[in-house]
Amino acid sequence: MTAAGDRLGPTLFERSRPGRGGGKVPHPPKDTLSRIPSDQLRAEGPNLPEVAEPELTRHFVNLSQLNYAVDSGFYPLGSCTMKWNPKVNEWAARLTGFASLHPFAPDELAQGTLQLLWEVEQWLAEIAGMRAVTLQPSAGAQGELTGILMVRAYHRSRGDLARTEVLVPDSAHGTNPATASMAGFATVSIPSAPDGGVDLDAFRAALSPKTAAVMITNPSTLGLFESRIGELLAAVHAAGALAYMDGANLNAIMGRFKPGEAGFDVMHFNVHKTFSTPHGGGGPGAGPVGVGEKLLPFLPVPRVLREPDGLFRLERPGERTASIGRVRSFAGNTGVLVRAYAYLRAHGASGLREVSDDAVLAANYMKSQVTGVLDVPFSRHCMHEFVASSATLKAQTGIRTLDVAKRLIDYGFHPPTIYFPLTVEEALLIEPTETEALETLDAFVQALRSIVDEAHSDPDLLHSAPHSSPVRRLDEATAARQPNLRWRPMTGRQMPCPD
Ligand SMILES: *Cc1c(COP(=O)(O)O)cnc(C)c1O
Repeated sequence: MTAAGDRLGPTLFERSRPGRGGGKVPHPPKDTLSRIPSDQLRAEGPNLPEVAEPELTRHFVNLSQLNYAVDSGFYPLGSCTMKWNPKVNEWAARLTGFASLHPFAPDELAQGTLQLLWEVEQWLAEIAGMRAVTLQPSAGAQGELTGILMVRAYHRSRGDLARTEVLVPDSAHGTNPATASMAGFATVSIPSAPDGGVDLDAFRAALSPKTAAVMITNPSTLGLFESRIGELLAAVHAAGALAYMDGANLNAIMGRFKPGEAGFDVMHFNVHKTFSTPHGGGGPGAGPVGVGEKLLPFLPVPRVLREPDGLFRLERPGERTASIGRVRSFAGNTGVLVRAYAYLRAHGASGLREVSDDAVLAANYMKSQVTGVLDVPFSRHCMHEFVASSATLKAQTGIRTLDVAKRLIDYGFHPPTIYFPLTVEEALLIEPTETEALETLDAFVQALRSIVDEAHSDPDLLHSAPHSSPVRRLDEATAARQPNLRWRPMTGRQMPCPD
């Protein structure tokens, strides 16, 4: 099956014409081929498409314009924080001193980058109320694994080998239970209470001498602040377990709530979400991890240290033996951390608090506007995102959240996150972020209203949406079970055979 519409056009292989060639390489040395040992020369040229340079450029530029991006429109993907990424960050990350620094450069030649990394660590520690931060992990998920490996090392260092379980609320991101099992723990799922918070009684009942850690997302993936967080953390510590905070939703609480001061022992940051790096399509990212006193000895190596003389250096091998070791090459995803630095410095402390306040304001505004259009299961004040549901619409018209999401594409919007969290039927998780204009928020709500009208008047239009996108609706079962993502190459130098 092919899902390609007209706008996708032929592939480069299909455009290829023998002898048409690409661009010119300036002045190749005349003896290039004779310098390669003859047994390493291929007998035939590679099967690369032959197209002229302008055709090649247009092909990729046109493809790039089929992408939906924050730079082209509203992208309210809940939990992902697809906010505007200021262009000054890109400028900073491309500065030659950062971008061209060799990862093996000796500390003396890397002082600027080391100082920047050290300062990012100080900022993050201050924002989270943590003692120290490792910048090494490449993403939130890897940050989680790093954090839980430190928890494991902590219990082992005390000879406490009985702690084999990690408690995770049922509204958690899938990476939380995945992390727990990758680190060798059994996951115990904790149900949510009717108000969307963790069910405190079920939580207390699940805590035991077997509990190594509890992973809590706060605000939760329902966009709700865990109002009984003090009681929860007291119970965790009374049981001798440690508290992990999934900090993906930090953009709701900066300057208002410090997880470390509240009693969390460890948390990760999604730097690419909260501190703005373009992160569609799986990367790039950075998932620094902050720790309190107890986990300090176990931080990955190498940390960036500041010497009494003000110079910076990386920890040397063997310098801190309790460390869980390295979790990534070099010092981390430095380009993303440079962007975070630019963002942190541009906003300052009061600016960051404003970011959170505006994100919460935008979400509550949208929530009030969506109420009455779709179901809004939790009426209490939300944080930076809120959950809506098409359950009533489905009962009335047969139109599901999937249809609503696909139809939003025809209205020019990226759909919100759908069917997550799993605890809400026909869920839409909407995160407007602080960077959108009031008119944009209103236009999105208006589109939702129109779609609900269409659901009553012309449901078939919705079942077959989207109608305007380069790729039409996929058969999701086939796409998931028999993905055919490979273009079969031509044989020899013949024209490609369609397959
Ligand atoms: C995004 C997210 C993660 C995973 O972070 P990545 O950087 O994508 O690996 C974990 N938990 C929550 C709540 C998230 O939103």
